[in-house]
Amino acid sequence: MNRVRCLVLNAALGPLDYKVPDGMAVELGQVVECPLGPRTVIGIVWEAERLPGTDVPAEKLRALRGLYPIPALPAPLRRLIEWTADYYVASLASVARMALSSGGALKGPASITEYRLTGGMPERMTPQRLAAMEALEGEQATIRELAGIAGVSEGVLRGLVNQGVLEPVEVDCDRPYDEARPDYAQVELSEQQREASDIFSTAVRNAKFAPFLLDGVTGSGKTETYFEPVAEALRMGRQVLVLLPEIALTENFLHRFEERFGTKPVLWHSSLKSTERRRAWRAVASGSAQVVVGARSALFLPFAKLGLIVVDEAHETSFKQEDGVRYNARDVAVMRAHFEGFPIILASATPALESLQMAESGIYEKVDLPSRFGGAQLPTIDTIDLTQEKPPHGMWLAQRLVDGIAERLERGEQSLLFLNRRGYAPLTLCRNCGFRYQCPNCSAWLVEHRFTRRLACHHCGHEAPSPAQCKECGEPDCLVACGPGVERIADEVAERLPDARVFVATSDTLNSPGRAAEFIAAVDAGEIDVIVGTQLVTKGFHFPELTLVGVVDADLGLEGGDLRAGERTYQQVAQVAGRAGRGAKPGEVLIQTRHPEASVIAALAAGDRDAFYSAETEMRRDAGAPPFGRWASIIVSSEDEAEAREAARRIGDTRPDVADCMILGPAPAPMAQLRGRYRYRLLMNARRSVQLQDVIRRWLGRIDHPPGVRVAIDVDPYSFV
Ligand SMILES: [Zn+2]
Ligand SMILES: [Zn+2]
Repeated sequence: MNRVRCLVLNAALGPLDYKVPDGMAVELGQVVECPLGPRTVIGIVWEAERLPGTDVPAEKLRALRGLYPIPALPAPLRRLIEWTADYYVASLASVARMALSSGGALKGPASITEYRLTGGMPERMTPQRLAAMEALEGEQATIRELAGIAGVSEGVLRGLVNQGVLEPVEVDCDRPYDEARPDYAQVELSEQQREASDIFSTAVRNAKFAPFLLDGVTGSGKTETYFEPVAEALRMGRQVLVLLPEIALTENFLHRFEERFGTKPVLWHSSLKSTERRRAWRAVASGSAQVVVGARSALFLPFAKLGLIVVDEAHETSFKQEDGVRYNARDVAVMRAHFEGFPIILASATPALESLQMAESGIYEKVDLPSRFGGAQLPTIDTIDLTQEKPPHGMWLAQRLVDGIAERLERGEQSLLFLNRRGYAPLTLCRNCGFRYQCPNCSAWLVEHRFTRRLACHHCGHEAPSPAQCKECGEPDCLVACGPGVERIADEVAERLPDARVFVATSDTLNSPGRAAEFIAAVDAGEIDVIVGTQLVTKGFHFPELTLVGVVDADLGLEGGDLRAGERTYQQVAQVAGRAGRGAKPGEVLIQTRHPEASVIAALAAGDRDAFYSAETEMRRDAGAPPFGRWASIIVSSEDEAEAREAARRIGDTRPDVADCMILGPAPAPMAQLRGRYRYRLLMNARRSVQLQDVIRRWLGRIDHPPGVRVAIDVDPYSFV
């Protein structure tokens, strides 16, 4: 090749052609340094025929500046990038950037200097130095990272280096990971687990595209079941990707993985240090990272020889990215398996309706684990009708639920109360003048957090100290907390059962893997009697002494009435119910509701999953909703209200007339203001036969907007705010 077409990582630019200098060997997929004006931008050599551009005469071409010392992106990954950009109406550059997600990794082999404690003492001890030395026990990292860990300035640590308290260590950035061994542990599987894992392992050996839905009740041992095909892939020298939601809470998973394979897997998530990120990225690209466990962004990593993807808790909505490229990692993962030709396992106890429908139509093979591992029984489920069994005034728990907790306390067992609301109260208002505390940047109330004595917005992160007097009328002691959050429920338990040891488990308290590990250890040691938690505690945990689960407000998720409200409520409650009675002792679940007759609640109480899914299927079919029809939303936003409205109006005025495609709006979005931006929304609902993406591209491609306007396209949306 003496000239190449490059996809440059700048969404505003089209493909650019370059001359290949003499002596430079370039192949497709290679990551290259492209001159652009006085700058250099990252580019990827692409098939020219797949990337239409203008043909610049050879004499006008500039020469590539160089090659990045990393393997070329394989052709199937390039096809995946194209497919994702096309399906989600995103730019190729923004999708490609997700594959090149470590700037450091592109620079080639390197070493860095890290520091660790020597055990020596400084000549002069200061409180800051002492605190830093305590915090850095067992740590090794760069000065900057250590400063972050210890909460002191880098200057303090440099002082400790000069005193010989910290010593430098030269670290190879690409040092290999410990080897995962497929036959490390003796595996005991039930017969149903064995049958399922054999199906998967055979598919791994066949090395062909094969999508599976692993549908197993909570506690059935899905993880152990899919560990076997993981082992099979390792024996064949292939790499494996396991996608998990809520990466902070995988401590339990990592432990089980280590027991099975003798070492931890390679981790990939957004809070990795940049050095960990580059090490993981390079090991993935070279093929030496055997098993990667990651959040959704791991999906676009440039694996050299991937042989299996597992998407665990595949129904989770956190696989859907809600900004930038709005893709659904579960669906893109299936496409990756398709392009590269290997099996994929979607595992869940409460599969998404879309996945069940794919199984029903024969596209996915459904593999069932219908009973719990080790003979444990599924819990009994009962509802508490709050209109009949009213909690005492100003309280939220019915007496029957409190009695249930008291019984567990006496027997030394544990209880879990589930409420998907962080903080103390979702709304604070003034008794005197009626003023309500609202976020200055969003159409949302500020949530009171008593632990930190602050009012916080859960959408933009705005925070203010809890006020002593009303901001509006100035009256002291007049603010009332309205409604419960988990902190308030914990207070109520402490008040009604003073002997209970209560722990609030939310993303505020379990905000690191270390905290999560401490929490798990405390529950295992029996140091906690009652866990009050948000959806963070609905999955992955296995506590044998936990025998009672109380759902504080099952109606909460049904409010707002978006398309998936019923399904999400079913999944959340079924998942949290699944935490009860996982050991030898039977479990009980009590669901508080004002609508015991609602089809979701009735199906949960009856333990009749099929009834719920078939009612939900009919409802979706009637509404032309996924998977029977298709949705897309267009969100137009600006910091200027009039500008946002005007841009939305212009989009609305030019709407195309397409058969079998309905376009609603523009109207103010349900969250009319978010992070300081005013928002308008248009919704498209179409039959599956409509080429929705083509319609959107042709329609929106013709309209120019002022620079302050953003137009976000969400194909197969999960969020309707
Ligand atoms: Zn007031
Ligand atoms: Zn806000």
